[in-house]
Amino acid sequence: MNAHDEHAVYESPAREAAGTNLLGLSRTALERYFEARGERPFRAVQVLKWIHQQRIARFAAMTNLSKDLRARLEAEASVTPPEIVAVHESVDGTIKWLVRVAPDNCVEMVFIPDTPRGTLCISSQVGCALNCTFCATARQGFNRNLGSAEIIGQLWLARSMLESSSERSRTITNIVLMGMGEPLLNFDNVVEALELMLDDNAHGFARRRVTLSTAGVVPKIDALRQRCPVSLAVSLHAPNDRLRDELVPLNKHYPIRDLLAACRRYVAGDPREKVTFEYVMLSGVNDSRQHALELAALLADVPSKVNLIPFNPFPSSGYRRSPEHVIDAFRDVLLSRGIMTITRKTRGEDIDAACGQLAGVVQPRSQRMRARRAGRLAPAGAERLQS
Ligand code: SF4
Repeated sequence: MNAHDEHAVYESPAREAAGTNLLGLSRTALERYFEARGERPFRAVQVLKWIHQQRIARFAAMTNLSKDLRARLEAEASVTPPEIVAVHESVDGTIKWLVRVAPDNCVEMVFIPDTPRGTLCISSQVGCALNCTFCATARQGFNRNLGSAEIIGQLWLARSMLESSSERSRTITNIVLMGMGEPLLNFDNVVEALELMLDDNAHGFARRRVTLSTAGVVPKIDALRQRCPVSLAVSLHAPNDRLRDELVPLNKHYPIRDLLAACRRYVAGDPREKVTFEYVMLSGVNDSRQHALELAALLADVPSKVNLIPFNPFPSSGYRRSPEHVIDAFRDVLLSRGIMTITRKTRGEDIDAACGQLAGVVQPRSQRMRARRAGRLAPAGAERLQS
Protein backbone atom coordinates (compact mmCIF):
# COMPACT_ATOMS: atom_id res chain seq x y z
CA MET A 1 0.00 0.00 0.00
CA ASN A 2 1.22 3.47 -0.81
CA ALA A 3 0.79 5.79 2.14
CA HIS A 4 1.03 8.77 -0.19
CA ASP A 5 -2.25 8.00 -1.92
CA GLU A 6 -4.76 10.71 -1.29
CA HIS A 7 -8.15 9.57 -0.20
CA ALA A 8 -7.39 6.04 -1.28
CA VAL A 9 -10.10 3.58 -0.38
CA TYR A 10 -9.37 -0.10 0.12
CA GLU A 11 -11.93 -2.81 0.45
CA SER A 12 -10.76 -6.19 1.56
CA PRO A 13 -12.30 -8.78 3.81
CA ALA A 14 -11.43 -8.40 7.49
CA ARG A 15 -8.91 -11.00 8.58
CA GLU A 16 -9.40 -13.20 11.56
CA ALA A 17 -6.29 -14.13 13.49
CA ALA A 18 -5.62 -17.85 12.99
CA GLY A 19 -4.59 -19.41 16.31
CA THR A 20 -2.89 -17.24 18.92
CA ASN A 21 -2.03 -13.83 17.57
CA LEU A 22 1.56 -13.26 18.72
CA LEU A 23 1.57 -9.63 17.60
CA GLY A 24 0.06 -8.38 20.85
CA LEU A 25 2.09 -10.49 23.30
CA SER A 26 4.66 -8.71 25.45
CA ARG A 27 8.01 -10.37 26.05
CA THR A 28 6.78 -11.87 29.34
CA ALA A 29 3.64 -13.23 27.69
CA LEU A 30 5.66 -14.65 24.79
CA GLU A 31 8.08 -16.33 27.21
CA ARG A 32 5.10 -17.97 28.90
CA TYR A 33 3.76 -18.98 25.50
CA PHE A 34 6.99 -20.74 24.54
CA GLU A 35 7.55 -22.28 27.96
CA ALA A 36 4.08 -23.80 27.82
CA ARG A 37 5.16 -25.51 24.59
CA GLY A 38 8.39 -26.87 25.99
CA GLU A 39 10.54 -24.24 24.25
CA ARG A 40 13.30 -22.18 25.85
CA PRO A 41 12.24 -18.66 26.89
CA PHE A 42 14.88 -16.99 24.68
CA ARG A 43 12.64 -17.85 21.73
CA ALA A 44 10.50 -14.94 22.89
CA VAL A 45 13.24 -12.40 22.16
CA GLN A 46 13.97 -13.96 18.77
CA VAL A 47 10.33 -13.83 17.76
CA LEU A 48 9.83 -10.33 19.16
CA LYS A 49 12.67 -9.05 17.01
CA TRP A 50 11.29 -10.68 13.87
CA ILE A 51 7.80 -9.37 14.47
CA HIS A 52 8.44 -5.86 15.71
CA GLN A 53 11.88 -4.89 14.41
CA GLN A 54 11.83 -6.67 11.06
CA ARG A 55 8.04 -6.55 10.80
CA ILE A 56 7.95 -10.10 9.50
CA ALA A 57 4.56 -11.75 9.82
CA ARG A 58 5.38 -15.18 8.36
CA PHE A 59 6.98 -17.72 10.67
CA ALA A 60 8.54 -19.49 7.69
CA ALA A 61 10.81 -16.44 7.23
CA MET A 62 12.09 -16.51 10.84
CA THR A 63 15.26 -18.32 9.93
CA ASN A 64 16.88 -18.57 13.35
CA LEU A 65 14.02 -20.75 14.62
CA SER A 66 14.21 -24.48 14.08
CA LYS A 67 12.25 -25.90 11.16
CA ASP A 68 10.01 -27.81 13.56
CA LEU A 69 9.21 -24.73 15.57
CA ARG A 70 8.44 -22.71 12.45
CA ALA A 71 6.06 -25.41 11.27
CA ARG A 72 4.40 -25.59 14.66
CA LEU A 73 3.94 -21.82 14.81
CA GLU A 74 2.51 -21.79 11.28
CA ALA A 75 -0.07 -24.31 12.47
CA GLU A 76 -0.89 -22.83 15.87
CA ALA A 77 -0.28 -19.10 15.74
CA SER A 78 -0.25 -16.03 13.55
CA VAL A 79 0.98 -12.45 13.37
CA THR A 80 -2.16 -10.64 12.34
CA PRO A 81 -2.27 -6.84 12.37
CA PRO A 82 -5.51 -4.95 11.80
CA GLU A 83 -6.14 -3.74 8.26
CA ILE A 84 -5.84 -0.34 6.66
CA VAL A 85 -8.98 0.38 4.67
CA ALA A 86 -8.48 4.04 3.75
CA VAL A 87 -5.70 6.62 3.75
CA HIS A 88 -6.14 10.38 3.71
CA GLU A 89 -3.23 12.76 3.38
CA SER A 90 -3.52 16.41 4.33
CA VAL A 91 -1.93 19.29 2.47
CA ASP A 92 0.24 19.80 5.57
CA GLY A 93 1.62 16.23 5.39
CA THR A 94 -0.56 14.78 8.15
CA ILE A 95 -1.77 11.29 7.30
CA LYS A 96 -4.89 9.66 8.67
CA TRP A 97 -5.60 5.96 8.29
CA LEU A 98 -8.88 4.23 8.79
CA VAL A 99 -8.01 0.91 10.44
CA ARG A 100 -10.47 -1.97 10.42
CA VAL A 101 -10.48 -3.86 13.70
CA ALA A 102 -13.46 -6.12 13.06
CA PRO A 103 -15.80 -6.62 10.15
CA ASP A 104 -18.01 -3.82 11.35
CA ASN A 105 -15.71 -1.37 13.14
CA CYS A 106 -12.86 0.94 12.28
CA VAL A 107 -10.66 3.23 14.35
CA GLU A 108 -8.47 6.05 13.17
CA MET A 109 -4.77 6.70 13.61
CA VAL A 110 -2.88 9.80 12.57
CA PHE A 111 0.74 10.59 11.74
CA ILE A 112 1.81 14.20 12.25
CA PRO A 113 5.20 15.04 10.70
CA ASP A 114 6.92 18.00 12.29
CA THR A 115 10.62 17.58 11.51
CA PRO A 116 12.61 16.44 13.40
CA ARG A 117 9.64 14.91 15.20
CA GLY A 118 7.08 12.57 13.75
CA THR A 119 4.20 11.79 16.07
CA LEU A 120 1.86 8.85 15.71
CA CYS A 121 -1.50 9.20 17.44
CA ILE A 122 -3.19 5.86 18.03
CA SER A 123 -6.55 4.65 19.33
CA SER A 124 -7.27 2.40 22.29
CA GLN A 125 -11.02 1.74 22.04
CA VAL A 126 -13.65 1.52 19.35
CA GLY A 127 -15.52 4.70 20.19
CA CYS A 128 -15.58 6.06 23.72
CA ALA A 129 -18.03 5.94 26.60
CA LEU A 130 -16.94 9.11 28.36
CA ASN A 131 -19.09 11.59 26.49
CA CYS A 132 -16.89 14.66 26.60
CA THR A 133 -19.17 17.24 25.05
CA PHE A 134 -16.65 18.74 22.60
CA CYS A 135 -15.38 15.43 21.17
CA ALA A 136 -16.36 13.83 17.86
CA THR A 137 -15.43 10.33 19.07
CA ALA A 138 -17.94 10.64 21.91
CA ARG A 139 -20.74 11.11 19.37
CA GLN A 140 -19.96 7.66 17.96
CA GLY A 141 -20.78 5.88 21.21
CA PHE A 142 -18.74 3.00 22.59
CA ASN A 143 -18.42 -0.45 21.12
CA ARG A 144 -15.48 -2.29 22.67
CA ASN A 145 -11.91 -2.21 23.90
CA LEU A 146 -9.15 -2.86 21.40
CA GLY A 147 -6.98 -5.90 22.09
CA SER A 148 -3.25 -5.43 22.61
CA ALA A 149 -2.58 -6.71 19.06
CA GLU A 150 -4.96 -4.10 17.67
CA ILE A 151 -3.22 -1.33 19.63
CA ILE A 152 0.40 -2.28 18.91
CA GLY A 153 -0.77 -3.31 15.43
CA GLN A 154 -1.41 0.37 14.62
CA LEU A 155 2.24 1.20 15.31
CA TRP A 156 3.33 -1.92 13.43
CA LEU A 157 1.33 -0.89 10.38
CA ALA A 158 2.38 2.75 10.50
CA ARG A 159 6.07 1.87 10.77
CA SER A 160 5.74 -0.64 7.95
CA MET A 161 4.21 2.01 5.69
CA LEU A 162 6.12 5.12 6.72
CA GLU A 163 9.59 3.81 7.36
CA SER A 164 9.84 2.01 4.06
CA SER A 165 10.11 5.53 2.65
CA SER A 166 13.57 7.11 2.64
CA GLU A 167 12.13 10.47 3.73
CA ARG A 168 13.40 11.32 7.18
CA SER A 169 10.23 13.30 7.84
CA ARG A 170 8.37 10.00 7.93
CA THR A 171 10.15 8.54 10.93
CA ILE A 172 8.00 7.98 14.00
CA THR A 173 9.80 9.54 16.97
CA ASN A 174 6.88 9.91 19.38
CA ILE A 175 3.70 8.03 20.11
CA VAL A 176 0.62 9.46 21.76
CA LEU A 177 -2.41 7.50 22.91
CA MET A 178 -4.74 10.37 22.15
CA GLY A 179 -6.83 8.83 19.40
CA MET A 180 -10.23 7.25 19.92
CA GLY A 181 -11.05 6.02 23.40
CA GLU A 182 -9.98 6.36 27.02
CA PRO A 183 -6.82 4.23 27.34
CA LEU A 184 -7.04 3.80 31.11
CA LEU A 185 -10.44 2.11 30.73
CA ASN A 186 -8.69 -0.55 28.64
CA PHE A 187 -5.84 -0.86 31.08
CA ASP A 188 -4.39 -4.35 30.64
CA ASN A 189 -4.39 -4.31 26.84
CA VAL A 190 -2.95 -0.80 26.76
CA VAL A 191 -0.17 -1.67 29.20
CA GLU A 192 0.78 -4.77 27.21
CA ALA A 193 0.99 -2.65 24.05
CA LEU A 194 3.01 0.02 25.92
CA GLU A 195 5.45 -2.63 27.08
CA LEU A 196 6.03 -3.60 23.46
CA MET A 197 6.55 0.04 22.49
CA LEU A 198 9.25 0.40 25.16
CA ASP A 199 10.93 -3.02 24.91
CA ASP A 200 14.36 -2.76 23.24
CA ASN A 201 13.71 -6.10 21.58
CA ALA A 202 10.49 -4.77 20.07
CA HIS A 203 10.03 -1.05 19.22
CA GLY A 204 12.46 0.41 21.76
CA PHE A 205 10.93 3.85 22.31
CA ALA A 206 12.19 5.89 25.25
CA ARG A 207 9.61 6.18 28.03
CA ARG A 208 9.37 9.94 27.62
CA ARG A 209 8.54 9.63 23.93
CA VAL A 210 5.37 7.68 24.62
CA THR A 211 2.47 9.66 26.06
CA LEU A 212 -0.78 8.34 27.40
CA SER A 213 -3.61 10.83 27.52
CA THR A 214 -6.45 10.33 29.99
CA ALA A 215 -9.62 12.19 30.87
CA GLY A 216 -8.73 11.40 34.50
CA VAL A 217 -9.39 7.82 35.61
CA VAL A 218 -7.69 8.46 38.95
CA PRO A 219 -7.11 4.91 40.32
CA LYS A 220 -5.63 3.82 37.01
CA ILE A 221 -3.21 6.75 36.96
CA ASP A 222 -1.63 5.27 40.08
CA ALA A 223 -1.70 1.80 38.54
CA LEU A 224 0.00 3.09 35.38
CA ARG A 225 2.78 4.58 37.48
CA GLN A 226 3.36 1.15 38.99
CA ARG A 227 3.18 -0.84 35.78
CA CYS A 228 4.52 1.34 32.98
CA PRO A 229 5.21 5.00 33.78
CA VAL A 230 5.17 6.60 30.34
CA SER A 231 4.58 10.33 29.97
CA LEU A 232 1.17 11.39 31.23
CA ALA A 233 -1.20 13.88 29.61
CA VAL A 234 -4.53 14.86 31.16
CA SER A 235 -7.49 16.24 29.26
CA LEU A 236 -8.37 18.98 31.73
CA HIS A 237 -10.28 21.57 29.66
CA ALA A 238 -11.74 23.45 32.64
CA PRO A 239 -10.29 25.06 35.75
CA ASN A 240 -13.15 24.24 38.14
CA ASP A 241 -15.45 21.31 38.87
CA ARG A 242 -18.63 23.10 37.87
CA LEU A 243 -17.44 23.64 34.30
CA ARG A 244 -15.48 20.37 34.06
CA ASP A 245 -18.52 18.36 35.19
CA GLU A 246 -20.20 19.73 32.09
CA LEU A 247 -17.36 19.32 29.57
CA VAL A 248 -15.81 16.09 30.88
CA PRO A 249 -18.57 14.19 32.70
CA LEU A 250 -16.01 11.76 34.19
CA ASN A 251 -15.15 14.64 36.51
CA LYS A 252 -18.28 13.85 38.56
CA HIS A 253 -16.53 10.60 39.60
CA TYR A 254 -13.01 11.96 39.93
CA PRO A 255 -13.08 15.69 40.69
CA ILE A 256 -10.20 18.00 39.95
CA ARG A 257 -8.71 17.88 43.44
CA ASP A 258 -8.37 14.08 43.32
CA LEU A 259 -7.12 14.20 39.75
CA LEU A 260 -4.36 16.70 40.52
CA ALA A 261 -3.32 14.73 43.59
CA ALA A 262 -2.89 11.66 41.35
CA CYS A 263 -0.88 13.78 38.90
CA ARG A 264 1.43 14.94 41.68
CA ARG A 265 1.95 11.33 42.77
CA TYR A 266 2.65 10.33 39.17
CA VAL A 267 5.62 12.66 38.81
CA ALA A 268 6.82 12.55 42.42
CA GLY A 269 10.48 11.68 42.81
CA ASP A 270 11.63 12.86 39.39
CA PRO A 271 12.18 16.61 39.16
CA ARG A 272 12.35 16.41 35.34
CA GLU A 273 8.87 14.91 34.99
CA LYS A 274 5.88 17.05 34.14
CA VAL A 275 2.26 16.27 33.43
CA THR A 276 0.90 17.78 30.23
CA PHE A 277 -2.53 19.35 30.67
CA GLU A 278 -4.60 19.65 27.52
CA TYR A 279 -7.03 22.50 27.40
CA VAL A 280 -9.33 22.88 24.40
CA MET A 281 -10.17 26.51 23.71
CA LEU A 282 -13.94 26.89 23.40
CA SER A 283 -15.14 30.37 22.60
CA GLY A 284 -17.10 31.93 25.46
CA VAL A 285 -17.05 28.68 27.46
CA ASN A 286 -13.64 28.22 29.14
CA ASP A 287 -11.43 30.88 27.60
CA SER A 288 -11.79 34.03 29.75
CA ARG A 289 -9.04 35.76 31.68
CA GLN A 290 -10.75 34.59 34.86
CA HIS A 291 -10.52 30.97 33.66
CA ALA A 292 -6.83 31.46 32.91
CA LEU A 293 -6.19 32.86 36.38
CA GLU A 294 -8.08 29.95 37.98
CA LEU A 295 -6.09 27.48 35.91
CA ALA A 296 -2.77 29.06 36.85
CA ALA A 297 -3.70 28.89 40.54
CA LEU A 298 -4.80 25.27 40.18
CA LEU A 299 -1.53 24.16 38.57
CA ALA A 300 0.77 26.26 40.75
CA ASP A 301 1.96 23.23 42.73
CA VAL A 302 1.79 20.57 39.99
CA PRO A 303 4.88 20.06 37.79
CA SER A 304 3.08 20.79 34.56
CA LYS A 305 2.96 22.18 31.10
CA VAL A 306 -0.20 23.26 29.35
CA ASN A 307 -1.15 22.60 25.74
CA LEU A 308 -3.84 24.97 24.53
CA ILE A 309 -5.75 23.30 21.72
CA PRO A 310 -7.74 25.50 19.35
CA PHE A 311 -11.11 23.71 19.08
CA ASN A 312 -11.58 21.83 15.83
CA PRO A 313 -15.23 22.02 14.89
CA PHE A 314 -17.24 19.06 13.61
CA PRO A 315 -20.88 18.95 12.49
CA SER A 316 -23.37 19.88 15.25
CA SER A 317 -20.64 20.22 17.87
CA GLY A 318 -22.35 23.34 19.24
CA TYR A 319 -18.99 24.96 20.07
CA ARG A 320 -16.83 27.53 18.33
CA ARG A 321 -13.07 27.92 18.39
CA SER A 322 -11.76 30.76 20.53
CA PRO A 323 -10.36 33.59 18.41
CA GLU A 324 -6.60 33.72 18.12
CA HIS A 325 -6.21 36.87 20.20
CA VAL A 326 -8.22 35.25 23.02
CA ILE A 327 -5.99 32.15 22.93
CA ASP A 328 -2.90 34.36 22.97
CA ALA A 329 -4.20 36.36 25.95
CA PHE A 330 -5.03 33.12 27.82
CA ARG A 331 -1.55 31.77 27.12
CA ASP A 332 0.06 35.02 28.29
CA VAL A 333 -1.74 34.86 31.65
CA LEU A 334 -0.41 31.34 32.22
CA LEU A 335 3.11 32.26 31.11
CA SER A 336 3.11 35.31 33.40
CA ARG A 337 2.30 32.96 36.30
CA GLY A 338 5.25 30.72 35.42
CA ILE A 339 3.24 27.91 33.77
CA MET A 340 4.96 26.50 30.69
CA THR A 341 2.33 26.88 27.96
CA ILE A 342 2.17 26.30 24.23
CA THR A 343 -0.63 26.59 21.72
CA ARG A 344 -0.85 23.43 19.70
CA LYS A 345 -0.68 23.89 15.96
CA THR A 346 -3.78 22.59 14.29
CA ARG A 347 -2.82 19.87 11.82
CA GLY A 348 -4.77 17.77 9.35
CA GLU A 349 -7.91 19.88 9.56
CA ASP A 350 -8.77 19.31 5.89
CA ILE A 351 -8.97 15.54 6.47
CA ASP A 352 -10.74 15.68 9.87
CA ALA A 353 -7.58 14.42 11.56
CA ALA A 354 -7.13 17.26 14.03
CA CYS A 355 -7.49 16.83 17.79
CA GLY A 356 -11.01 15.87 18.84
CA GLN A 357 -12.12 15.13 15.28
CA LEU A 358 -11.41 11.39 15.08
CA ALA A 359 -14.56 9.43 14.55
CA GLY A 360 -13.75 6.13 12.82
CA VAL A 361 -16.65 3.82 12.10
CA VAL A 362 -18.31 2.65 15.27
CA GLN A 363 -21.33 0.48 15.35
CA PRO A 364 -22.96 1.13 18.71
CA ARG A 365 -23.45 -2.20 20.46
CA SER A 366 -27.24 -1.97 20.52
CA GLN A 367 -27.37 -1.22 16.78
CA ARG A 368 -24.96 -4.04 16.02
CA MET A 369 -27.00 -6.53 17.99
CA ARG A 370 -30.24 -5.39 16.37
CA ALA A 371 -28.60 -5.77 12.95
CA ARG A 372 -27.31 -9.25 13.86
CA ARG A 373 -30.77 -10.31 15.00
CA ALA A 374 -32.20 -9.03 11.75
CA GLY A 375 -29.43 -10.84 9.84
CA ARG A 376 -28.20 -7.68 8.15
CA LEU A 377 -24.91 -6.54 9.53
CA ALA A 378 -23.88 -3.38 7.73
CA PRO A 379 -20.95 -3.75 5.36
CA ALA A 380 -17.68 -2.76 6.97
CA GLY A 381 -17.29 0.97 7.22
CA ALA A 382 -19.60 1.51 4.27
CA GLU A 383 -21.02 4.83 5.35
CA ARG A 384 -17.69 6.40 6.14
CA LEU A 385 -15.76 4.94 3.24
CA GLN A 386 -18.19 6.27 0.70
CA SER A 387 -18.21 9.79 2.08
S1 SF4 B 1 -12.07 13.45 24.65
FE1 SF4 B 1 -11.14 11.41 24.89
S2 SF4 B 1 -12.11 10.63 26.78
FE2 SF4 B 1 -13.39 12.34 26.10
S3 SF4 B 1 -14.99 11.36 24.82
FE3 SF4 B 1 -13.30 12.00 23.45
S4 SF4 B 1 -12.04 10.14 23.24
FE4 SF4 B 1 -13.32 9.87 25.07
